[in-house]
Amino acid sequence: MINNHPKALKVLFFTEMWERMSYYGMRGILVLFMTASIQNGGLDFSNSSASAIYGIYAAAVYLATLPGGWIADNLYGQQKTVLYGGIVIMFGHLILAIPNMSLFYIGLTLVVIGTGLLKPNISALVGGLYENKTDMRESGFTIFYMSINLGSILGFFICGYLGENIGWHYGFGAAGIGMLFGVIQYKLNMKSLGKTGLSPSNSINLEVKNKYERIILVISLFISLLIISGLMGFWSIDPLPLANITTIVIASISLAYFFYIYFLGNLNKDEKKKIIMIFILFIGAALFWSGFDQGGSSFNIFAKEYTDRMIFGWEYPASWLQILNPLFVVILAPFISYLWIYLGRKMLDPSLPFKFGMGLIFMAIGFIIIAVGAQIAISEGLASAKWLLLTYLFHTIGELILSPIGLSAISSLSPKRYIGQMMGIWFLASSLGAILAGLISGQATNEGLSSMPDLFNQIAIISTIAGLILILIAKPLQRWVFKKSEL
Ligand code: GLN
Repeated sequence: MINNHPKALKVLFFTEMWERMSYYGMRGILVLFMTASIQNGGLDFSNSSASAIYGIYAAAVYLATLPGGWIADNLYGQQKTVLYGGIVIMFGHLILAIPNMSLFYIGLTLVVIGTGLLKPNISALVGGLYENKTDMRESGFTIFYMSINLGSILGFFICGYLGENIGWHYGFGAAGIGMLFGVIQYKLNMKSLGKTGLSPSNSINLEVKNKYERIILVISLFISLLIISGLMGFWSIDPLPLANITTIVIASISLAYFFYIYFLGNLNKDEKKKIIMIFILFIGAALFWSGFDQGGSSFNIFAKEYTDRMIFGWEYPASWLQILNPLFVVILAPFISYLWIYLGRKMLDPSLPFKFGMGLIFMAIGFIIIAVGAQIAISEGLASAKWLLLTYLFHTIGELILSPIGLSAISSLSPKRYIGQMMGIWFLASSLGAILAGLISGQATNEGLSSMPDLFNQIAIISTIAGLILILIAKPLQRWVFKKSEL
């Protein structure tokens, strides 16, 4: 069956696999590195500062996908933008491999910029391969989602082991080498993509192009100057208030965009209803990612400090527990997609808001489990790894219900002329979720273990309520938004 897919899918599969290997490999040890003591090679940051930086970093990665998509559409085309992105990411990780505090933020910034260039455009290239084979597109994206998760498994495994057991910077270096493999592989096989994403989709003349390039250069210089002046001690900022401000900025950008498109987008009545549906799904997705992204932050700290990780007399790295998420994705994805086909045949395929609601309920169950684990760790010192295992299991089921359908949901609901921008909205939900996740993790870990159970239970309550609201409004909302013929 894989033979029927376009040959170039293989190139994108391995590029994304190496890119995610480097992204998750580094992210898997980032909070552990920041919170480790100086003697242990870390930065000795508090849990809440480290969580805030992690949140800002992950949110910036997803935010950068908006300009990244724009640059491909208007200046270089997706093919080249993916290559440039891969190279920038590689340098970012290699710079992080140098144990020097001043280089730390420069490395992180390069990974943000590079991922912004690569991530949205590689997904668009996958879509582009199926222009004439739309019936196979969903299956193509399912295979692509596997590459994301195989890459994550490799990343957590390799960078986690090197980072925690040998030295943090070896972990970061391995992420850079992984991306190098991805870049070489992509460059050698890029030709097989043919005309897909070869040139920018919007044709602009050379003069305008030069103007845009100059603007980008000025912005890049400004960002570099900002970082370098900060590193030289001209200014400093507490990450926690910065994370709060970032949350407000991202939430405001999202709201402003929805207002703009609703009131000034020249939409007809039916299109407006669909935008409201996207808005509701957007809130559901942001809430989901804010809980789900505890994997790299508070759950990671819980794994490191309060989980019994001994196996045959050997203590395995804390970041290895994060492998459970991508592993469960690879195992469970075929079952979930079969479930939708099966229910579809019986005309019982649940509506989008219902699926998003269920995603939130599964997330809540995961948090109830980890709250119990944290309670046990309080009374017994260490908790068994089964609590994290079960939490990741439920969170992965939630992810599989909500995430793979997200992009296709947005593309089918948005007015055709706004599709590109509305795809950006999906990444904006990940960005908002990531920054909220950083703040939540800071709250959950600021007093060590004792603050965890209550906060995890509160998250469980909030996401259950949000999930139930989505499930309850699913049917009426669906009837209101879609015409009878569309249902
Ligand atoms: N795990 C998926 C990926 O890395 C989705 C993550 C997200 O959107 N927050 O692509």
